[in-house]
Amino acid sequence: MKEKSQQNTKVLIVGSGAAGLSAAIYTARAELEPVVLTGPTLGGQITLTADVENYPGVPDRISGTELIMRFVDQAEKFGAKIDYAAAESIDFSRRPFVVETDSKVYHAENLILATGSKAVALDVPGEKELTGAGVSYCATCDGAFFRGKKVAVVGGGTSAVEEAIFLTRFVEKVTIIHRRDQLRADAAAQKAAKSNPKIEFLWDTVVSEVIGEDFVEALRVKNVKSGAEKVIPFEGVFVFIGHRPVSNLYEGKLTLENGQIPVDLHMRTEVPGVYAAGETVDGEYRQLIVSAAQGAQAALTLIKDLA
Ligand SMILES: Cc1cc2nc3c(=O)[nH]c(=O)nc-3n(C[C@H](O)[C@H](O)[C@H](O)COP(=O)(O)OP(=O)(O)OC[C@H]3O[C@@H](n4cnc5c(N)ncnc54)[C@H](O)[C@@H]3O)c2cc1C
Repeated sequence: MKEKSQQNTKVLIVGSGAAGLSAAIYTARAELEPVVLTGPTLGGQITLTADVENYPGVPDRISGTELIMRFVDQAEKFGAKIDYAAAESIDFSRRPFVVETDSKVYHAENLILATGSKAVALDVPGEKELTGAGVSYCATCDGAFFRGKKVAVVGGGTSAVEEAIFLTRFVEKVTIIHRRDQLRADAAAQKAAKSNPKIEFLWDTVVSEVIGEDFVEALRVKNVKSGAEKVIPFEGVFVFIGHRPVSNLYEGKLTLENGQIPVDLHMRTEVPGVYAAGETVDGEYRQLIVSAAQGAQAALTLIKDLA
C-alpha cells in the first residue's frame, strides 16, 4: 500500500459548502493559507438546486453551482488550497490535530468543521432498493428524467414545496404527500403551489412502502387519522422530509447534541483550536447566508484567538 503523504497546515477546513468556503475566504485573506477538504460534494448542498434567488447581492436567478463556484474562485484568489478529498478520521486529542484522507495525513494547528447536513430518508421498505430508480432526494438533479410522468413529493416544508413547483416544469402531475393537514412551507411557496394546476395534495398521509420491481411503480400510503391504507400508482417519488447533520466523524470524540456540534456564540467548540460552522452546528434555518455567516464568524474567531 502506498504511504500517505504528510502535510502541515495552519488551518484545515473540513467541508466545502457555504460555511467552509466562507471560512476559507476569511482565513485566506488573513494569510493563514487554509486548506479546504471538499468531501463528497464541492460546494455542498446548494449544488442540488437550479435556482437561487434569495442570496443578498445576487438579485438575478442563479444556479446553486454557479453561485457557490464564485465562493470557490474567491477563496482560491486569496490563496486557499482545495483538496478534493474527504476526511476519514480526525484525532482531536493532540495538537496539531491529525486528519487523514485516503491519500494524506494533515497536521493542522486549527480546524474548522463544516460538514453540513444531508437529507433524511423515509426509512420504509423499497426505498433503499429503488433509490436512483424512481426514488430521489433532489428534484434539480433528477426532475428531467420524469418528463410527462406522475410523481409524488413527500414533505410539507419550504424545500418540499419549492421542489414540487420545480418538478412541474417536467412532470404531468405532482402529488404532495404530507403527514399533517397543512403545509409548514413559507407563505410564498404555499401560494405558488396551491395555485399551480399540476400540483395536488394528499393530507394527513404517510408513505409506508415504495413499490416496484426495477423502478418505482406505486406507493403504499396510510392516512394517519383513519389508519386506512391504499396503493397509489406513481412513477417517481421525491423525498424532502428534513435534514440531519453530517457528524459521523465526530462521534465519540466531540460532545454532540442531536448530532450537532455545540459551539459558543463565536463558533468555538469545546476543543481549543477547533471551530465549527454551518448546518453541522445548526440546521434551524438551512439557508446559504446563515452558513456563510457562521463560516465567517468561525474564521474571524480563529484569527482573533491566534492574535
Ligand atoms: C434542494 C435544495 C435547495 C436549496 N435552495 C436554497 C436557496 O435557494 N437558498 C438558500 O439560501 N439555501 C438553499 N438551500 C440550503 C443551502 O444549500 C444550505 O443552507 C447550505 O448549503 C448549507 O451549507 P453548509 O456549508 O452548512 O453545508 P453543506 O452545503 O451541507 O456542505 C457540507 C460540505 O461538507 C462536505 N463534507 C461532508 N463530509 C465530509 C468529510 N468527511 N470530509 C470533508 N468534507 C466533508 C460536503 O462535501 C460539503 O462540501 C437549498 C438546499 C437544498 C438541498
